[in-house]
Amino acid sequence: MFERLLPHMRVNTVYEINLDELHSRGVRGIITDLDNTLVGAKEALATPELIQWLDGVRSRGFQVVIVSNNNDSRVGKFASPLNIPYIHAARKPAAKAFRRALKVLGLEAGQTVVIGDQMLTDVLGGNRMGLFTILVTPIAPADEGIMTRVNRQIERIALIRLRKKGLWYEGEIK
Ligand SMILES: [Mg+2]
Repeated sequence: MFERLLPHMRVNTVYEINLDELHSRGVRGIITDLDNTLVGAKEALATPELIQWLDGVRSRGFQVVIVSNNNDSRVGKFASPLNIPYIHAARKPAAKAFRRALKVLGLEAGQTVVIGDQMLTDVLGGNRMGLFTILVTPIAPADEGIMTRVNRQIERIALIRLRKKGLWYEGEIK
């Protein structure tokens, strides 16, 4: 069961993702989480560094959609100035929002990656849809809400099991 929580790739930040490699593998779409993936959970707007990264992503020919479990005012305020489509109150890991996101992108699962900081929402949801999943280290874990804290406890249990099975290696990143 815990294998479904395993991402295909782990990075510290989105900036470490090798976009050219993804592109050469036929990836054309990015479904990304917002809170603690793109900016800290309490940061309202994109940082200059993130804006520059998103410009680079789009100029390479990737399409981007933000899929967040957070509410419309949080996600809309963040995404609108960037001109990025978004789905709020997504209820990840449920499949519905991922299906909607693929429709927004106009792409197939095999052409799309999911980026997020949570194994129980972003990674599990993406894996179940057959998407390539990329786990980032949460930007500001101290700012996480109650639901996320509960998810982190389950993540910890999952990590113990995955390490025992030899499926999770330390030192792979950082
Ligand atoms: Mg998140």
